[in-house]
Amino acid sequence: MFLERISYPEVQAYLQKSQTVLLPVGSLENHGKHMPLGTDTLIPEHLCDLVDAAFPDLLIAPPLHYGATEDLRGFPGTISIGVEGLRILLTTILDQLFDYGFRRFIILNGHGGNSKSIDQAGMHLYHRGAYLACLNWWLIAGQLNAEWKGGHGGGEETAAILAVDPSLVHQAFIHLPENMRNDVSDELPSYSWTSVLFQGASVTIPRPVCSITDNGWLAHGMGSDAPSRATEAMGQEMMTAMCRYICDFAKAFSRAPLPGNP
Ligand SMILES: [Zn+2]
Repeated sequence: MFLERISYPEVQAYLQKSQTVLLPVGSLENHGKHMPLGTDTLIPEHLCDLVDAAFPDLLIAPPLHYGATEDLRGFPGTISIGVEGLRILLTTILDQLFDYGFRRFIILNGHGGNSKSIDQAGMHLYHRGAYLACLNWWLIAGQLNAEWKGGHGGGEETAAILAVDPSLVHQAFIHLPENMRNDVSDELPSYSWTSVLFQGASVTIPRPVCSITDNGWLAHGMGSDAPSRATEAMGQEMMTAMCRYICDFAKAFSRAPLPGNP
């Protein structure tokens, strides 16, 4: 059940039987030359369609297409509203849902950079006597099956986008290497994301990702998750497993007692 497709009396009727709402949160950012900028929103949106078919009694709010992605700025088309911008947007929306009677909020998150803002919104809601649960789909998928575990724009996300719409993946670019570069020094080579490797351990030195790779997909230091390993079948299997997990979680979360006297 999608919030933008129902009327306010239907929301009132829904609140008589449930206080749970699911909100997908994405990002608009580079995912390599082979993948669309909206990858982190398109995957949660696709999961919402699957969840709606399997569990039509769950209310789903419209997605947030913009997120906190400062690291990836500089790749044309990437737009970040920052950690604080996303926190304000999230708490504004969730507080109003709270005022109507919602008390259990499930965020279906598509992007790691959104986590700080989501955590802050969740703590804020906890102190109002509600719960927020954040489902980071790509981490959950990797925990459900170690073969699905992946990096940014790698095989895991590419397989998911193949499941959403195969025409969104540019096969001509799928074999391009990460092209890691811009070492801080000979002793401090670029390792992963903004980190360097020193004596076998990684140290964060914040730098834009576009200075570390001109491609934009990144699994280096996070395993070996090349986009070329992705198949549509892998994506379909992963999306089916995630849909089941989200539906089961929503039911368990809806049964959980709310935090008492915050
Ligand atoms: Zn992503």
